[in-house]
Amino acid sequence: MMRTYDVIVLGAGHAGCEAALAASRLGASTALLTLNLDEIGRLPCNPSIGGPGKSQLVREIDALGGQMARITDASMIHVRRLNTSKGAAMQVWRAQVDRLLYKAAWKRTLESSSHLALIEGMVDRLLVDDRRLVGVVLREGVELRARAVVLAAGTFLNGRILLGRTAYAAGRSGEPPSVALATSLRELGFDLQRLKTGTPPRVHRDSLEVFGLERQDTSDEPMAFSFWDAPRVLSKRHPVFVTHTNEATHRIIEDHLQESSNYNGLIAGVGSRHCPSLETKIVKFPDRTSHKVFLEPEGIDSAEIYLQGVYTALSPAVQQQVVHSIRGLEKAHILRYGHNIEYDFVDPIHLRPTLETRAVSGLYFAGQINGTTGYEEAAAQGLMAGINAARAIHGEEEVILSRGEAFIGVLIDDLVTKGVTEP
Ligand SMILES: Cc1cc2nc3c(=O)[nH]c(=O)nc-3n(C[C@H](O)[C@H](O)[C@H](O)COP(=O)(O)OP(=O)(O)OC[C@H]3O[C@@H](n4cnc5c(N)ncnc54)[C@H](O)[C@@H]3O)c2cc1C
Repeated sequence: MMRTYDVIVLGAGHAGCEAALAASRLGASTALLTLNLDEIGRLPCNPSIGGPGKSQLVREIDALGGQMARITDASMIHVRRLNTSKGAAMQVWRAQVDRLLYKAAWKRTLESSSHLALIEGMVDRLLVDDRRLVGVVLREGVELRARAVVLAAGTFLNGRILLGRTAYAAGRSGEPPSVALATSLRELGFDLQRLKTGTPPRVHRDSLEVFGLERQDTSDEPMAFSFWDAPRVLSKRHPVFVTHTNEATHRIIEDHLQESSNYNGLIAGVGSRHCPSLETKIVKFPDRTSHKVFLEPEGIDSAEIYLQGVYTALSPAVQQQVVHSIRGLEKAHILRYGHNIEYDFVDPIHLRPTLETRAVSGLYFAGQINGTTGYEEAAAQGLMAGINAARAIHGEEEVILSRGEAFIGVLIDDLVTKGVTEP
């Protein structure tokens, strides 16, 4: 069985969704392939969009015809302007979105798009003829032909979840890794390296004692991320609370560092300096007796609370001690344990500024596979890869944003000229 498209997008994460939408909106017949159609646009870590360095990207994606801002507006439950004591250039917006509404809004948008076919399946192999991409082969035995492929496989390439002294194969929590695809890339000559990222525990809202904690309500200022949506004030029903770690928390971590896969040699991948684990904060800043912890709601119909600031890969038993040592969380019921994920990426120094690989024409890389981390960074790259893939097929000029024109221009220029050694 063989079908032909102009563009195949591999992966329906934040890069893949924008890439597929951009290519199809530009008139390219497009197929979007993903492991699970129910997980389109999944936010595997914090259901939060925007914030420092990121909200500008969301606005630029919107200005360029992308969808992230509109999906955020449709699903946000709490939004604030940050850095209000600083000047206008430093101020950013950060939204907490409903995880399920966010996914549903993406699925609805993609399902109703012209020229776009959604297909559930696992791509095992890329087909290349004389250094030109010609198609993909699915594990299910289906062969699809295309003139361009945007590869946006996220954290799935040889993915492994790690916590405590345990490690197991996974693309992310509850989903399988992409092993054959990583082998296919290696066979094509790509040099795959390892990175890691982490996620904190989620706790049940009803097991918390928030009385006396600082409460942060959604803003009274009407807000919308998209230029197309009317700004609005959200209901105050989903506040964020702020608590802190303390000396007892830090002592537990110091006493059990070997119980963290961050410190017991289990992990080979490099992590982000900008989003350190709680273990790393305590090792690197021993003079600090306290760190902030934000209790962030995951959705309107969800009792899950995300412990922003408690990124950890400690064993479950120690995680429980750590969580219970924090004010307001003394009786917290952990619904999901924090963990790390380690995965393969390809150094983007080998990409052209259009995000097409230099080694194989018609093959574009976008998102986490390029060594970046973050939904907004992935979406920005996906948008540009999708635009360029479609334009190349139509014989149109490339779209390359300059550093002076857009943050996206800086992001991509840094990736393709400096490469990546950490996420
Ligand atoms: C546990 C965890 C913690 C994280 N923590 C943070 C954090 O603290 N801060 C932060 O900014 N970001 C974090 N991230 C990263 C963030 O989730 C990513 O940056 C973002 O989702 C990347 O988007 P993407 O589109 O590149 O890939 P993803 O969103 O990962 O999407 C990948 C897509 O590829 C598909 N796919 C993979 N292999 C195949 C295949 N062979 N065939 C077909 N489809 C395939 C998957 O089904 C999926 O749809 C974390 C991610 C995880 C998993």
